[in-house]
Amino acid sequence: AASSPSSLRIAVIAGDGIGPEVIEQAIRAAEAAVQRYSPARLEWNRLPWSTAYYKKHGHMLPPDGWDLLREHDAILFGAVGDPSVPDRITVHELLLPMRRRFDQYVNLRPAYLFAGVPCPLVGKKPGEIDLLVFRENTEGEYAPVGGRLYPETPAEVAVQTALFTRRGCERIMRAAFEAARRRPRKKVTSITKSNALIWGMGLWDAVFEDVRRDYPDVQSHSLLVDAAAMDLVRKPETFDVIVASNLFGDILTDLSAAVTGSIGLASSANINPTREYPSMFEPVHGSAPDIAGRGIANPLAAILSAGLMLDHLGLSAAAEAIRQAVAAVLAEGKVRTPDLGGSHTTTDMGNAVVAALQG
Ligand code: ATP
Ligand code: MG
Repeated sequence: AASSPSSLRIAVIAGDGIGPEVIEQAIRAAEAAVQRYSPARLEWNRLPWSTAYYKKHGHMLPPDGWDLLREHDAILFGAVGDPSVPDRITVHELLLPMRRRFDQYVNLRPAYLFAGVPCPLVGKKPGEIDLLVFRENTEGEYAPVGGRLYPETPAEVAVQTALFTRRGCERIMRAAFEAARRRPRKKVTSITKSNALIWGMGLWDAVFEDVRRDYPDVQSHSLLVDAAAMDLVRKPETFDVIVASNLFGDILTDLSAAVTGSIGLASSANINPTREYPSMFEPVHGSAPDIAGRGIANPLAAILSAGLMLDHLGLSAAAEAIRQAVAAVLAEGKVRTPDLGGSHTTTDMGNAVVAALQG
């Protein structure tokens, strides 16, 4: 945060598997977009934190790692996870604590049906699916509250507690309404299950009723999560902005990524709206060990995530240029990675986006 407005410091945690492959292309695309569309200097600070780093040092990041990260304007993240080390280390020492420590309470996940991308639903036109999911990122069902007793006996029990606070519900809902206000359809759908989860989701619904009153210009309603899952398949075009708890948001965004083509296209942002801490931008997909090292991962999810980062940093012209370049490359359909039915490489795809950005 200590940099001049013309120089932005970005921490890069490329991580494991396809993380470094796709992040390299995201950096190239961001550089090309900024050079042409938004005058600013980007400083990329590459941090080696990964499973390999863990195996060497015994931790995912050094003891002063969090302080070091805090000095950046944003974090660009690839993926962590490797079959040789349990997720409870890789993910639970780096990714989950980052969201909590840096209070990145908004997990923004757009889903858009680009022209040129095969849609598993019949008869959908490009742009017809265009939604933004605001997933609560710090509490709810993923709160680390619970316990396990009498392991491996017939009496074994587990308790997993969901934690909802009025403050936590209110701030994610306000973020969703603010975004909806700036979109043409101005519509918010709140995802609930208060008919079964009476306390936590009961509070969620009560807060939603309060918050929506402050946004009379936005259409808003509540929908049960099971009905929402059906509607995302039957009529995804009816959704604009969705606000959901941690677990429901996670599940529904995999669904919305699937109906808009490939996981290789799904981008996300973990935002601290107060800007007290850096926000983090990452593709929705993981390290994909099954295809890692072969240079065939689709880099577009990472490139679109870098676009979300530029937007957050105030470089909106460069951000929009990235979206347009990705849309143009997909619509043209000449360069396609295997997940999109082609046989091009990660670098081919990166080259195509950079070329589109350079006009
Ligand atoms: P995580 O636990 O981190 O979510 P995962 O192993 O559950 O990781 P992914 O790493 O996202 O899931 O991989 C799921 C599937 O999607 C794999 O078959 C992988 O090859 C494929 N996949 C993921 N990302 C991409 C990409 N960018 N391009 C092409 N295929 C991808
Ligand atoms: Mg996994």
